[in-house]
Amino acid sequence: MIPKQELERYAHMLLHVGLDLQKGQECVINASLEAAPLVRELMRQAYEMGAKDVHVNWQDAECEKLRYLGQDEETLSSFPDWKAEMYNGYCRRGCAYLAITSDDPDAFAGVDAARIALAGRAKTAATQEAVNCRMSGTAPWLVAGYPGVKWAQKVFPGLSEQEAVDKLWDAIAFVTRARQDDPDAAWKAHQAALDRRKAWLNAQHFTAMHYAASNGTDFTVGLVDRHIWDGGCVTIEGKRSFIPNMPTEEIFSAPDRRRAEGTLVSALPLSYNGSLVSDFRFTFQDGRVVDYDARTGKDVLRGILTTDEGACRLGEIALIPADSPLAQLGLLFYSTLYDENASCHFALGRSYPSCYEGGESMNQEALVQAGVNDSLVHVDFMVGTRDLSITGIRADGTEVPVFAHGVWAID
Ligand code: ZN
Ligand code: ZN
Repeated sequence: MIPKQELERYAHMLLHVGLDLQKGQECVINASLEAAPLVRELMRQAYEMGAKDVHVNWQDAECEKLRYLGQDEETLSSFPDWKAEMYNGYCRRGCAYLAITSDDPDAFAGVDAARIALAGRAKTAATQEAVNCRMSGTAPWLVAGYPGVKWAQKVFPGLSEQEAVDKLWDAIAFVTRARQDDPDAAWKAHQAALDRRKAWLNAQHFTAMHYAASNGTDFTVGLVDRHIWDGGCVTIEGKRSFIPNMPTEEIFSAPDRRRAEGTLVSALPLSYNGSLVSDFRFTFQDGRVVDYDARTGKDVLRGILTTDEGACRLGEIALIPADSPLAQLGLLFYSTLYDENASCHFALGRSYPSCYEGGESMNQEALVQAGVNDSLVHVDFMVGTRDLSITGIRADGTEVPVFAHGVWAID
């Protein structure tokens, strides 16, 4: 059991610092049944803060697995209109969206990755309005974790259910700063540090970056003209701001979808829709993945890469030093929310329009023309080893060290 006081504190941090929930605003919470104690506390505090309505969409990974296994392909690849309208409607009304992740990383083991991809594609296509709204940051959203039993035992194998859940909660509370005396102040200081790095990167106007590590990574990625480095909180129309992920340690931007050359080798396994991909590598040419391999889960990579034209190109470049709290903890969470914040990463697929000057008011076609990638997928994968070096390259060919030995090479 998570102590009541800690649960209250965590919920307070998510609603106040993360979502910045407003009086009169609607709030929607997606969560699994296991997270009920947190959801009830969130609901209590949200109404106390003056929320107009709080909707809860309960989810259960076991039922979801039965659906993947039991439905015919036609049903699996169609997403009901009423359900799409529910998600799109939330966004249209400026609803604050909170997703609590607590599921077993192996929940969908044994399910054909292509069937999961099929269902995922149908949902993304039907809920484009909501996806656009989240990607462009016009309504607040937040993803945070809650320790589910199976997830906890995956992270801490060999422990009893209770011990594993307690340890995973300790880890979550540590990396989200929820256990510090004043989490609000801790987040303010963290945001200020992120802002300083962002300002430095934005002033450099790099045209490309070169990655090198002893595991075989030797890779150059282009950055689009007018790219913007972003990170931490997102500002809505210059007024309020929200933090889309707790934890978050990354500073990220939009790579040029046409310019990526060489090989990127994974630093951590990728847990994707309940399947694990380990020891993988991608080779790029002219921005496209032309070769890839994995010790396990190669079929999962195939499912991702063949989704559409943009799925085999890069949509995100993100920098995280190897001395961040998550990297220091050195724990594999089997969850992208945490693991991506432990390591420098890239994402295959869609870019964030906010990473391109004026991108939020451009359509996808114009963004793609400018080199900003589009796809139905966005899949982060980790490449940040402790010996990673990153060099920024300016248009005139000047080279500037950005990372050395896995950490920032600048103050
Ligand atoms: Zn990222
Ligand atoms: Zn990402």
